Amino acid sequence: VNSNNANSVSTVVAPFNQPYVSSRKTVPTRQAIALISEHGDPAAEIGKDAAGGQNVYVRQVGEALAKLGWQVDMFTRKTKPDDAAIVQHAPHCRTIRLVAGPEQFIPRDELFPYMQEFVAAFQAFQSKEGSNYPLVHTNYWMSAWVGLQLKQQSNIQLIHTYHSLGAVKYQAVPHRPVIAATRLAIERQILEQADCIVATSPQEQETLRTLVSKEGHIEVIPCGTDISNFHTIPKAEARAALGFDVNDAIVLYVGRFDPRKGIETLVRAFAQLKVETGRRESNGKAAFDPAKLRLVIVGGSHPDSTDGLERARIERLIHAAGLAEQTVFAGQIGHASLPLYYTAADVCAIPSHYEPFGLVAIEAMACGTPVVASDVGGLSFTVVPDETGLLVPPQDPSALAQAIERVLTDELWARKLRRQAPIRVQQNFSWSGVAVHLSDLYRRLLAQSISNTLFFDTSVAPLSEKQDLSPLHKDV
Ligand code: UDP
Repeated sequence: VNSNNANSVSTVVAPFNQPYVSSRKTVPTRQAIALISEHGDPAAEIGKDAAGGQNVYVRQVGEALAKLGWQVDMFTRKTKPDDAAIVQHAPHCRTIRLVAGPEQFIPRDELFPYMQEFVAAFQAFQSKEGSNYPLVHTNYWMSAWVGLQLKQQSNIQLIHTYHSLGAVKYQAVPHRPVIAATRLAIERQILEQADCIVATSPQEQETLRTLVSKEGHIEVIPCGTDISNFHTIPKAEARAALGFDVNDAIVLYVGRFDPRKGIETLVRAFAQLKVETGRRESNGKAAFDPAKLRLVIVGGSHPDSTDGLERARIERLIHAAGLAEQTVFAGQIGHASLPLYYTAADVCAIPSHYEPFGLVAIEAMACGTPVVASDVGGLSFTVVPDETGLLVPPQDPSALAQAIERVLTDELWARKLRRQAPIRVQQNFSWSGVAVHLSDLYRRLLAQSISNTLFFDTSVAPLSEKQDLSPLHKDV
């Protein structure tokens, strides 16, 4: 709706016999919207302090939506006293860190009691800025609860992305944490009461329908990747930059240290691969020297947190399997340097037990690296077997080892995968493409909200700046 439409709609509701006077005092610049990500700080360093896909998603979506003309405010919880309260990412995109609970890292399972404070801080921020967000897009179940409270208090359009699903997570854990029942209830409530759920893959949509509720509106809009950053580089160049040999057979893992990520399965697969290649070598049939096998593990960890414990456990496994000399722990690597790791690798392994989407798969593919992934969740959607990589059953070291071996040994076929993988990403998973879909969804929901208001309440005031649907100005 442009301002002409807005005026014509408003005239309909202006009181009889009185000239219509717009309540708008100034010409609006942009429609402001709020993205809420209570624990995934969009301004955080990725790959550290449990920062992963959710942080990347919110930040990239936020920046891309701002380019499409929205004013994007991304809200998260402040976890360090020295962190800035507001981080401006681009002229119309910022992260706002709200104080809710102590300004320190709090594990996710202990965070919910501070969400009431988060709601109050959000509302205080709105009052201070004199703005109201007609549309709120929440991420993860605790933000969903925040969104549901806001929706009870004012007429907002509420959109939600899960990122992780309690119903799946708790299937695999022997002891459910105390918070589990609350989480499951809120995950159901948000599906049934939000204006729209954004599932990032058809598989996630199916899981929601099977495990959470048959009610509620879901649209599938995938995650994306920054294809201007993640693209192909000559392999030899990347290896030279990172100090790897041209003859190395490199298997890469990128991600957080979390048992759900299945790094243990990869270590066991790698051990099998080494033994198998050694056996072939003694028969004179090895495609490469087993001593040249390298397992490169990229991801940050903190000795005192859960990711530090998982890294220590993985290191113990590696030592026990006699793989220490062939394994490189690269630590946390930023997105600027990650393309070097992806392109240097022969294969990127994603051995997750479950993955709602799995950004690493599309990042690797965008760099032309074949992906061998567990056939679960979003990975079954992004990785096309025989075209961009292979899918294997989760938690199956032998299947993973065989798939990795095929990529390492079938040179002609692997070359075909390398060519096709970036094309799939460019065509389906760019952030700018994702943001266009989200922007279209937001517009439809805001338009629907206004038409509902007009239909049900004819005494409604003329359209205010708050209700203007269009983001108005596009960045060039
Ligand atoms: N990542 C990174 N540096 C690291 C490790 C991971 O930038 O050292 C990024 C990775 O590139 C990806 C994100 O963290 O963008 C992980 O997202 P994914 O969806 O694969 O997993 P999640 O963390 O959401 O479980």
